Amino acid sequence: VDTNSKRLTIAIQKSGRLSKESIKLLEACGVKFTLHESRLLAHSNNQPIDLLRVRDDDIPGLVMDGVVDLGLVGENVLEEVRLERVATELPAEVTRLRSLEFGQCRLSLAVPKEDAYQGVQDLAGKRIATTYPYLLQDYLKKQGVNASTAILTGSVEVAPRVGLADAICDLVSTGATLEANGLVEKDVIFTSQAQLIQRPEPLNADKQAMVDQLLPRLDGVQKARESKYIMLHAPRKALEQVSALLPGAEDPTILPLSHTDELVAVHVVSTETLFWETMEELKAIGCSSILVLPIEKMMG
Ligand code: ATP
Ligand code: MG
Repeated sequence: VDTNSKRLTIAIQKSGRLSKESIKLLEACGVKFTLHESRLLAHSNNQPIDLLRVRDDDIPGLVMDGVVDLGLVGENVLEEVRLERVATELPAEVTRLRSLEFGQCRLSLAVPKEDAYQGVQDLAGKRIATTYPYLLQDYLKKQGVNASTAILTGSVEVAPRVGLADAICDLVSTGATLEANGLVEKDVIFTSQAQLIQRPEPLNADKQAMVDQLLPRLDGVQKARESKYIMLHAPRKALEQVSALLPGAEDPTILPLSHTDELVAVHVVSTETLFWETMEELKAIGCSSILVLPIEKMMG
């Protein structure tokens, strides 16, 4: 590892559920890339940043070993690798910089739907198939349950049907895969979303400066995603009611309209979703031309 390098290296998943969002987020922060399908390394066109595109399982270790500076990875994989490395006495520290609000999923215990499952205690002495043996055993230990694991890297959900296991512990987002395999989700043992992590050793000044620029941009992108710009025409006498109806909207801009004194234009940034119900209420108190626009970037 060249610790004096001025180029910041970021590991992201090469192809999978986190890839698109990871690249989208970096691009929204002003980091541009031209990606070639076969290449492991991609240089940014406009910043001294290199992307290392790998399997998600490799990302926490690369960051913990200081091989890359930053990584974008699911908390599930991060925690699994951390527990495994603690058990095998390898470096397991990372600095968590941000939760990224994508890649949401949960790691759950599921059993065949005909099972009379009452609780995790029922799994004592049974075998559970999983890709996450450390997270699973950590949970079982905390629950005081002794069960064995069958470690599979894929097709975990078919294990009970073919007699490999009595239950499974797998990632769930909608539950459709479980249902298709005759399984029912019982206990959520871990909830996860993508994380931005940094290697534990301090970065050199050049790299730190880049991270210091990247983080406020990332916050700006995330804040913008949650916010809406709302414009509407409101009766001057209903302004207080209008403010009360607009969620998270402080300091609206009030502008006169050229053709009337009774109505004013209200422009406001709202930090919450504006529901159809609220728009209907606004209309009912005399508002018109109600527009809700997405915001691309924000800076305080
Ligand atoms: P790789 O080849 O990189 O090892 P993978 O098959 O292990 O890929 P993916 O299925 O692409 O991984 O999932 C990557 C991550 O996306 C998961 O570890 C998890 O953090 C997140 N994720 C979000 N939703 C889901 C879901 N419905 N099922 C599985 N993972 C999900
Ligand atoms: Mg993986």
